[in-house]
Amino acid sequence: MTTFADLDIPFPLFEAPTHEASDYAGLATCRLCRRGERHCFELGMGDALILPCPACGSENGLSAKDRGDVPCRSCGGLIVFPPSLVAKKQVLACYDCLREGKAAIAHDTEFGLVAWEQAVEGVTNGAPGLRTEQFEVVTIDPAEDWYGARIPSQDLWELLRTPVFHSWQGESWLFCCSRPMTYLGGWSSVVQSLQPNDPDAFLLALFGPDDEARSWGSEPFLEGSVSLYVYRCRACGRRRATYDSD
Ligand SMILES: [Zn+2]
Ligand SMILES: [Zn+2]
Ligand SMILES: [Zn+2]
Repeated sequence: MTTFADLDIPFPLFEAPTHEASDYAGLATCRLCRRGERHCFELGMGDALILPCPACGSENGLSAKDRGDVPCRSCGGLIVFPPSLVAKKQVLACYDCLREGKAAIAHDTEFGLVAWEQAVEGVTNGAPGLRTEQFEVVTIDPAEDWYGARIPSQDLWELLRTPVFHSWQGESWLFCCSRPMTYLGGWSSVVQSLQPNDPDAFLLALFGPDDEARSWGSEPFLEGSVSLYVYRCRACGRRRATYDSD
């Protein structure tokens, strides 16, 4: 199975096979730098082009879906969505442009949505009743019992320079040691890449003490009625996983 590292376009937070990345578009012409034969990623809903304001230089996100002009978040001056991209069927950003921060790919996380606005703010969009030991919890909407997590902007920007993986119910990116974890892949990918001696024990170690999945064994993951998404912490090496079903 080919990974992005095998293609010489490594992502610190994505070590799964390339076929697990839902936005990977293969070799194509980058719409941002216009270079051909580049490994490209399709920007969709929630994703943004990141452009400096011509007046004040402050970086702003422009929705890759709406493709409209926006007022600068710092000075209010107009930032124009590149006219050459407005009518394009796909907005494709190459690896270099993505890694240089010219595009931002939104991710759902265990602490709520993270798009470019959240990276600028250094606070996730949050979730109802959110509690965590890893980060300071910030009240976003007391009436809705809605809280976000304060996370260093540089770690959120790194997540936004990372592909999205295929899942049934959407991602819920995990964190450990106060950092975003690295996505390793689904059940069949990790069994192939890690070759655990005892798959049941491997699986058990992925889940917290109160997780109902601890009692399931490997069968639902083997037969595919439940999908598994495995991550590794880059600091402590611990693995965690989420799962969903259709
Ligand atoms: Zn490019
Ligand atoms: Zn400005
Ligand atoms: Zn850790």
